[in-house]
Amino acid sequence: MSADEQVDVLVVGAGATGLSAAYALGAGGRSVVVLESRDRVGGRLWTDEVDGVDLEIGGQWVSPDQEALLAMLDELGLETFERHREGESVYVGLDGQRRTFTGEVLPVAPTVEAEMTRVTGLLDDLSAQMDPSRPWDMPGAVALDQVTFLGWLEQTCDDQEARDNIAMFIAQAMLTKPAHTFSALQAVHMAASAGSFSNLVDSEFILDRRVIGGLQKVPLTLAERLGEAVRTGHDVEKVSWTADGVMVTCGGLTIAARHLVIAVPPTAVMRIRFEPPLPSIQRETRQHHSFGQVIKVHATYDTPFWRGAGLSGTAFSPYEVVHEAYDNTNHDESRGTLVGFVSDLQADAVLALSAERRREVILSSLQTYFGPAAGEPATYFESDWTSEELGSGAYGSSFDLGGLTRFGPRLREAAGPIQIGSSDVAGLGFQHVDGALRVGAEMARSILEES
Ligand SMILES: Cc1cc2nc3c(=O)[nH]c(=O)nc-3n(C[C@H](O)[C@H](O)[C@H](O)COP(=O)(O)OP(=O)(O)OC[C@H]3O[C@@H](n4cnc5c(N)ncnc54)[C@H](O)[C@@H]3O)c2cc1C
Repeated sequence: MSADEQVDVLVVGAGATGLSAAYALGAGGRSVVVLESRDRVGGRLWTDEVDGVDLEIGGQWVSPDQEALLAMLDELGLETFERHREGESVYVGLDGQRRTFTGEVLPVAPTVEAEMTRVTGLLDDLSAQMDPSRPWDMPGAVALDQVTFLGWLEQTCDDQEARDNIAMFIAQAMLTKPAHTFSALQAVHMAASAGSFSNLVDSEFILDRRVIGGLQKVPLTLAERLGEAVRTGHDVEKVSWTADGVMVTCGGLTIAARHLVIAVPPTAVMRIRFEPPLPSIQRETRQHHSFGQVIKVHATYDTPFWRGAGLSGTAFSPYEVVHEAYDNTNHDESRGTLVGFVSDLQADAVLALSAERRREVILSSLQTYFGPAAGEPATYFESDWTSEELGSGAYGSSFDLGGLTRFGPRLREAAGPIQIGSSDVAGLGFQHVDGALRVGAEMARSILEES
């Protein structure tokens, strides 16, 4: 078969990973084409207008340690603004009581606080021993990968409320999987990828800023700069390859390339047929990677009424349907938006309800935190990533028990001219846009060094 187009590098997937790889390859003088299934670029970054309100349906926050993302924002000339955080935050404890607090220490009993401080110290020590790009190399990695995070917490700490809160910051808030489904090593990796467990707990740090106009501006601006090289509406279903290059036929076009970058989540790699098949280890590693599940709920009100009541809009509880919530009001907007997250088992439970009942249950949880006015939003929207065939979940994918040490070292292996990566396989910035940009840059660098 002869090709209609011949390029140095073909990139599959126009998310942050694929577009940043293509951008770096273009800057390095390589000819590039990017094929994207959807009719838009950005993948898990998506800003859309819903009932007259601009909502960040996917990823949105930027934290001060995310150097790759901060450098990209500079490069693209994008501006950020600080999340509103003045006022008191809300916590609902094991006793069902609602309490307000300021700062990062939850208003729990002194014994619970002491245990949380102790376990936080243990997780910080463990994460300091880990290179997040090689978690399987840390001392004791295999043993930590054989116990669930819940099991490790039960062995480590006798206090239920302390355990539930520590679990929440990794399970519900990050991996969006129940703490009994992933290993303690995976939990430590999540912490190490953000610098420390203390960073993850510190919402002032981890959810610091947003991009004016939305974080999707990163892929949108990259795509604009790449111009005609980016082709949306091209779902790559089949790749033919040899040691010397690849051939892809898609949307009536056959493209030949010396290198192929597949910048899609591990689960989406499995949708593509390879001829000849990829080495079996490539499929096996990805069979042990699965998406977490979280519903991101946006509720917009005529005003940010909670601020008038002295509340910041920040709320946490491992016992509430909405385990965390924040003021998500857009830059320079008079309407107020709350964003809340319903994760893993709670997400399963509410997704089994009718849409009306689910809205009632979720708004009732926001009312517990912010009072009756939270029950009457002018606009209500649930980001639904479960129904997205190209990802089937949020925020990202991670290994099942034991997978990190058993398959992790093979996950980034190239197969001949094919490299595969996304934020789901990042070290620093794992499951975040920062990690996507790091993986994109690494894949581009290895191609530039080779050819
Ligand atoms: C609800 C939600 C909230 C989040 N919050 C944050 C946050 O606050 N901060 C943060 O940093 N991160 C956040 N994230 C995570 C962040 O959005 C992702 O880690 C990042 O955007 C992933 O980028 P990626 O390019 O690696 O993958 P993706 O964005 O998934 O891009 C992959 C692309 O490949 C395309 N594709 C797949 N298969 C094919 C195929 N066969 N042919 C062609 N194209 C294909 C897809 O359509 C997609 O566009 C959040 C994610 C979600 C869903």
